[in-house]
Amino acid sequence: MHKIFHFDSPPEPYVADAAVLCCFDERIRLAVNKFLRRQGILRPDMIVVAGGAKTLASPRNDFERDFILEQVRMSMRLHQTARVFLMSHSDCATYGGLEAFDGDRKREAEHHQHELQRAAYFKGSTPTSIIGGTIRSGPAHNEGGRRISRSHIPRPSRPEYRT
Ligand SMILES: [Zn+2]
Repeated sequence: MHKIFHFDSPPEPYVADAAVLCCFDERIRLAVNKFLRRQGILRPDMIVVAGGAKTLASPRNDFERDFILEQVRMSMRLHQTARVFLMSHSDCATYGGLEAFDGDRKREAEHHQHELQRAAYFKGSTPTSIIGGTIRSGPAHNEGGRRISRSHIPRPSRPEYRT
């Protein structure tokens, strides 16, 4: 095998600050990274898939939701993760983009908020907090660029899953 890259990653085990479920849309990556740093999340277990929190709220099929739930559980088991961040973002192609909301950002944001609550319900099992965030991507207009609104989502009273 021919080596084309060399980098020494830290070998020691770690406790993850959070598991973060977010979309693979490249436009939000910088905003997500900055947001997490600002929240003090320096060692996240990133679960990066098309649609992010949508995979729990409105998955394309049961397999998708089960797969993501297993990823969250593995983060909890392997890295003692106690928090989960569920992220959605504006103009997400998996929802048909902003176009699907007739360009209405407010309506889109309300829809995403509802989706985050659904995602939190299905996620169920985390021992501590669930934090949902919506990232506003796209041109800055007069709204100060990309923003992340953060909301605490009440934990479901009856957890569906246990680790
Ligand atoms: Zn997306």
